[in-house]
Amino acid sequence: FDDGPSATSNQLLNVLKAHQVKATFFMLGPQIQAHQAAVKRLYQEGHQLGLHGMTHDINRFYQNSESPVNEMREAQLILASVTGVYTRLVRTPYGSVPNLTYDQKVRLNQNGFIYWDWTIDSLDWRYKNSQYVQEVLNQLQMFEKNKPWEPKVILMHDQPSTTNYLDSLITQLKARGYTFAVINETMPPVQH
Ligand SMILES: [Zn+2]
Repeated sequence: FDDGPSATSNQLLNVLKAHQVKATFFMLGPQIQAHQAAVKRLYQEGHQLGLHGMTHDINRFYQNSESPVNEMREAQLILASVTGVYTRLVRTPYGSVPNLTYDQKVRLNQNGFIYWDWTIDSLDWRYKNSQYVQEVLNQLQMFEKNKPWEPKVILMHDQPSTTNYLDSLITQLKARGYTFAVINETMPPVQH
């Protein structure tokens, strides 16, 4: 889940808790500051902590070779001040392609950050309704047919329209036999 935490993170966490599903949250520094209780809760409930930078502004985040690492460091400190955890897991805004340059990747690596893209885009950011559920199911079906060996990392967002249909999505994924796990620092990252 990207772009959180938010004013509705608690509802999102309630759904995950009811299903005993753990997720990975790539969070923005200002949002962490504004919703500290939600960050503490999601950490305590076993979800994975990740960073999404500070500005979410494509021109500022990717401005120069140092800007991505600077934003991640700043967000890292804010998250650590709330949770005590210095996470190395990051997702860059809009994904690494086509924006993240070679120099920016090197600087992130040199500073210990591990960036993750995704393999399935739920398009919840575009639909803003229940349609993203079918989108995920359709993409998964294609995935199983064409490249079943690849890890399935589903991009979703901490937003009300996603939370509203999350119960439906998880129920249908479980019915198809899927289980869920968080990203961790020892996994080979999915990078486009
Ligand atoms: Zn984002």
